[in-house]
Amino acid sequence: MQSLIDHARSFHQQVATHRGLRSPLRPDHTPQAIFVSCSDARVVPSLLTGSTPGDLFELRTAGNVIPPYRVGRLTAEAATLEYAVVVLGVRDLIVCGHTRCGAVRARTSGGALRHAPTTRFWLLHTHRWRGIRAQEQEDPGRPHLIAQLDKLRRYPWVARRLADGTLRLHGWFYDVETGAVWRYRPDTGAFVPL
Ligand SMILES: [Zn+2]
Repeated sequence: MQSLIDHARSFHQQVATHRGLRSPLRPDHTPQAIFVSCSDARVVPSLLTGSTPGDLFELRTAGNVIPPYRVGRLTAEAATLEYAVVVLGVRDLIVCGHTRCGAVRARTSGGALRHAPTTRFWLLHTHRWRGIRAQEQEDPGRPHLIAQLDKLRRYPWVARRLADGTLRLHGWFYDVETGAVWRYRPDTGAFVPL
């Protein structure tokens, strides 16, 4: 923890040193994309995309779970997505799952998370887990990712912008051991190298 504090304390000095050359900070807020990913500490969106401050609007949840859209139901995920898509007008929506996801594995293994009832309830009620069937030896995070994409398409403002061609939806799957990124092809149902 101390290294994190030390870095935060001195960060402004690094910014001042680089100002005028290639400042890492930007005053405007016009992100290219919203990046939805798991809260897992091994998944670092800026690292794998090479993005800098201002590029990505991030939404991170345990297991990169997106709740189903319900009229009148307030969730942090719905509000964050709406802000990115409607207010900021991002043109790309990336959902990035990953290998060895603790939330996905805990839920799909059955009987787990009894000591974490909030997490268990969240995963139970935001996912049609019974409909998810991973192929043998396939990481369950992949069909889980596809389920999140399906739910996102039902958010009305996402659906509208997908329909008029002003928003693109991407499904990525990141290998936390190799750094490889795969993308989901809805037309074939396959994951191919990005
Ligand atoms: Zn995860």
